[in-house]
Amino acid sequence: MHESQLARKLVATLEAAVKERSAKSVKSVKVRLGGVHWIDSEAFRELFALFSQGTTCEGAELFVEEAQPKAKCLQCGTNFVPHDHDPACPRCGSSEIEIDAEPDLQILEISLLMPSLQ
Ligand SMILES: [Zn+2]
Repeated sequence: MHESQLARKLVATLEAAVKERSAKSVKSVKVRLGGVHWIDSEAFRELFALFSQGTTCEGAELFVEEAQPKAKCLQCGTNFVPHDHDPACPRCGSSEIEIDAEPDLQILEISLLMPSLQ
């Protein structure tokens, strides 16, 4: 499950940020999900909540932005949005496609709770 790997990676990254900045916990985090893996953002949210239990990320507010992958047919040049892992051109049916996708997980913003604010 790809969502599971990404959610674990996010928790690990946030924990490292908390440690590095001597923060108390993570208040909120904003991420952008993209890539060609068609990540299920609801599953990602649930897994993040699960993996963050007992960590400094527990209870953090998660904002998710979804990036849309883009595809271009190398035969006829049609641009379209691919809907699966092995897309075909909606115009000419060619499977010679170039996919332009963003990284699977980008962390846009992390808001930390500092001990002095308590
Ligand atoms: Zn085409």
